[in-house]
Amino acid sequence: MGSRQSPALVGAANLPSSVRIWEVGPRDGLQNEQQIIDTDHKVAFIDRLSAAGLPVIEATSFVRADRIPQLADGAQVMSRIARKPGVRYPVLVPNDRGLDAAVAADARDIAVFASATNTFAERNLGRTLANQMEMFTPVVQRAVGLDIPVRGYISMCFGDPWEGKVDPRQVVDVCRQLVDVGCGDISVGDTIGVATPGQVGELIGLLVDSGIGLGSIGVHFHDTYGQALANTLAALQAGVSTVDASTGGLGGCPYAESATGNLATEDLVWMLDGLGIQTGVDLGALVATSTWLARELGRPVASRVAQALRTST
Ligand code: MG
Repeated sequence: MGSRQSPALVGAANLPSSVRIWEVGPRDGLQNEQQIIDTDHKVAFIDRLSAAGLPVIEATSFVRADRIPQLADGAQVMSRIARKPGVRYPVLVPNDRGLDAAVAADARDIAVFASATNTFAERNLGRTLANQMEMFTPVVQRAVGLDIPVRGYISMCFGDPWEGKVDPRQVVDVCRQLVDVGCGDISVGDTIGVATPGQVGELIGLLVDSGIGLGSIGVHFHDTYGQALANTLAALQAGVSTVDASTGGLGGCPYAESATGNLATEDLVWMLDGLGIQTGVDLGALVATSTWLARELGRPVASRVAQALRTST
């Protein structure tokens, strides 16, 4: 039976037996933090996540330091973390120069970032929807040639602040282009957190219809409108078994108007533990990590589970 410290275990039909959690806190989370965090804290954060059992930890980004000063120390982070055998530490790479830096830092997995909408492609990448692949294709192909697996992120898959609802067929087109050029994994992102579960099931179904295997599809939800876990469950019911999450809900201040918080990893683990779905992650170690980081950042932790566990002891 459950308690205030752990959920009751009751399974449900049509769900995967295990889920691979793709932890994005050190990259997606910290990238959106205003206050600069020193390298020591980043390394300690990643090492704690490794120890907590996370199988994939997106560690940093090799983008221009003037664009994302928070992650300017990517090379130091990669050289100082304790790489746990079997754990993957992907890094975000926007272009050829970023790939050079990632390879020099001995990164063995990379990710590229595409857009599902034209407005966001223009604003974030300086490209149109039609020609953004010209930016990624050389990077992906060179990485694949080096035996470096590539994940393709797709932003604004369900809604876009400038364009409104996004046609899922447009999302499928971008996903197909990324897979065709060599991405082994894709992650469909609800960047502004507006999706609801029916949309999620619809998109996953269309992706599968387009020939993309369920094992290649990850989902990336934001809790801005409180839908992240409901959307995750819809994705699991549709056969997805890779879920992105950010420890502590890092990546959007819950007290700012622009809150765009990632799904918190510990909130996800609580649900998966309750459903009896294996993740390999130790919830207690994870909560201790997010509580530690929030204290170091000098503000409350955004995750509901971390808040509940702290106040129930
Ligand atoms: Mg995110």
